[in-house]
Amino acid sequence: MMNKPFRVFATCDIGEAIQLLRARGYEVEVYPRPEAPPKSLIIEKVKLGIDGLITTLRDPIDAEVFEASKGHLKVVAQFAVGFDNINRADANRYKVPFTNTADVLTEATAEFAFFMLGSLARKMWPAEHLTRENQWGYWHPYLPFLGDEVTGKTIAIIGTGRIGLAMIKKCAGFDMNMLCYDPAYENRDYVKAIQEVMDLRQARGISREKNWIKYVPFEQALHEADFVSVHVPLLRTGETATPTYHLFNEKTLRMMKPTAYLVNTSRGPVVDEVALTQALRENWIAGAALDVYEKEPLPADSPLRDPAIADRCRLMPHFASAARITRLSTDPNKGMAGRCAQGLIDVLEDNYAGDITKMPYVVNKEAFGS
Ligand code: NAD
Repeated sequence: MMNKPFRVFATCDIGEAIQLLRARGYEVEVYPRPEAPPKSLIIEKVKLGIDGLITTLRDPIDAEVFEASKGHLKVVAQFAVGFDNINRADANRYKVPFTNTADVLTEATAEFAFFMLGSLARKMWPAEHLTRENQWGYWHPYLPFLGDEVTGKTIAIIGTGRIGLAMIKKCAGFDMNMLCYDPAYENRDYVKAIQEVMDLRQARGISREKNWIKYVPFEQALHEADFVSVHVPLLRTGETATPTYHLFNEKTLRMMKPTAYLVNTSRGPVVDEVALTQALRENWIAGAALDVYEKEPLPADSPLRDPAIADRCRLMPHFASAARITRLSTDPNKGMAGRCAQGLIDVLEDNYAGDITKMPYVVNKEAFGS
């Protein structure tokens, strides 16, 4: 189907989707090890003249990589929705489009955030330890500890993009009240629809209380919430008027109620881990559940590992999208692998009449307008 086969380097195995590319005649080399390849290897590979690069959030893609790939590289296909590892300004300068895998991991990530929240609040981890370690000596009204209910509580949704909205939908099912905050995007239609659903549930006797949802300023959300769930992109100073780097720091953590819980499935650097550890040690807040970290994998000497806070600090291995269909389905409407491959194909095979601004999975369309 092609004169010269397209050459692709994948920094990790994305499953069956690789075969799908090979079946189209592509020459695909897959980095065989489970951990990320060193940046020097990516540079070595792109220098050999590849057309497409499949990356994950672990690979730093910047001017150095684009310079080495000049004249050859036509697309970077990122296997993730977040793309803070790709320097967008550099990609634009070198006119290399990059794609992501938005939407297909939205529900999986939101449900995982909700499960983390439930596991944290209801103390499932310490409770199971108690059982396994044979410390379950009696049934007692409040000993050895109690958790906090989720149903009927108030949650702050920080960032109401794709995953934030999906989280709202899940929380509505638990009769939660919702304080939403997003400086760039207030989806008032969605919030109105959720309010209508909650009103109907109460009118029909499905929910006992009348629940509510509204947009509020950031500080108010932190002051009033029992749970705070974070769904923002990682944006550093200079990249936006409202950066999210260390959005949760000593000052903002102290705004939360001492009974409140923080859940972060967005990006690690959004939370200042030193401040969070202090907040947990000194009980400024009741607990935290994290899926993402300032440095990944979580270093052995991370203060978050302090056994003194283990009962109120859940630590997951960047796992929120790690569900079978979400990760590996070759269907671009279901799986990250399928969407990643399709993004690559769109650019390499000049789909959409070769108009990059019309390709649905390309992120940096701004670099290709007229
Ligand atoms: P999205 O772009 O659809 O939504 C992000 C929202 O955050 C936008 O509405 C934006 O306006 C808002 N925002 C930007 N700056 C903000 C600020 N300062 N305060 C509050 N809101 C702000 O993104 P998404 O698809 O919903 O993904 C959200 C995050 O989840 C990303 O960081 C992504 O990398 C991360 N993620 C993590 C996992 C995981 O495995 N843990 C999986 C998928 C996505």
